[in-house]
Amino acid sequence: MNISFELFPPATSNGIGKVVEIARQLADFQPDMISVTYGAGGSGRERSSRLVAELNKPGFPAITAHITLSGQSKQDVLQQMDEWQEHGVKRFVALRGDMPDMARPFKPHGDGFSSSLDLMAHLASHGAEEIYGGAYPEGHPESPSQSAELDHLKAKQDAGATALITQYFFEVDCFLRFRDRAESHGITLPIIPGILPVANFEKAKGFSKRCGASIPQFVHDRFAGLHNNPHESALMGASLTAELVMELADEGVEHFHFYTLNRADLSLTACRMLGVRPT
Ligand SMILES: Cc1cc2nc3c(=O)[nH]c(=O)nc-3n(C[C@H](O)[C@H](O)[C@H](O)COP(=O)(O)OP(=O)(O)OC[C@H]3O[C@@H](n4cnc5c(N)ncnc54)[C@H](O)[C@@H]3O)c2cc1C
Repeated sequence: MNISFELFPPATSNGIGKVVEIARQLADFQPDMISVTYGAGGSGRERSSRLVAELNKPGFPAITAHITLSGQSKQDVLQQMDEWQEHGVKRFVALRGDMPDMARPFKPHGDGFSSSLDLMAHLASHGAEEIYGGAYPEGHPESPSQSAELDHLKAKQDAGATALITQYFFEVDCFLRFRDRAESHGITLPIIPGILPVANFEKAKGFSKRCGASIPQFVHDRFAGLHNNPHESALMGASLTAELVMELADEGVEHFHFYTLNRADLSLTACRMLGVRPT
């Protein structure tokens, strides 16, 4: 079983130590990688860089840096990549990213990379060992059609992506149907399900709306009445996550990517359910 974890940089540099401590707990479970997100439009870039540098040390697994291209010149993006590559980072989650305030549609920067495909092709020809692309089981909010979206995914494979990580979802069938569609479209890359353990349901409702991930009724029902009860909410989130990963494992899924939201306990409970334990 392979697992990976995603962390985001803290709001201020003072919070870095706390995130490193969470990463230590996650690292005990021997993940394949820990990835560090990158702010939309390059915002908070210094904090991402600092966190990547702090984690790219012995005792941690391979660090994977997310990089987005929206709202940035090519030179800015290349400078950031050079910095990471100088630190020895060779794995990237390569993304187009969103416009400020999630404005749609996406418009490329006048002097920037034009799409995630460009960025992947550049990374592939400049020494990146792993290039992960984003994939959307329920369709990306800007998707023109299901088949155009699959063509775009296939183009990520052709541009040099080595695996795809999905947006989170709550229903196993949603992932399985997507995996089948991708396979019949000629996509042979590993498709790693992105798993979001929900501790705060109100927050999850907010960002799910923005990123186009639907929340099925049974999830609403499970969290009903827990609004002011963070402890029980977290327990419910851990149970739901454990159910989801166990069902996916029954369907042959062998790699899980956890969107930890900088909280170790829920993701690690799910890992234990999968038989992954600290060393
Ligand atoms: C695993 C993962 C990690 C993420 N990490 C971050 C992060 O660190 N920082 C951050 O700001 N955001 C992050 N995001 C969010 C991401 O930036 C947004 O979802 C963004 O809107 C899309 O980026 P992308 O690279 O997947 O875009 P793309 O897949 O390249 O494009 C988005 C969608 O537009 C449509 N599209 C684009 N081009 C074409 C085309 N030529 N033909 C047909 N359809 C097309 C497709 O529907 C496509 O899915 C992450 C998302 C995922 C899944």
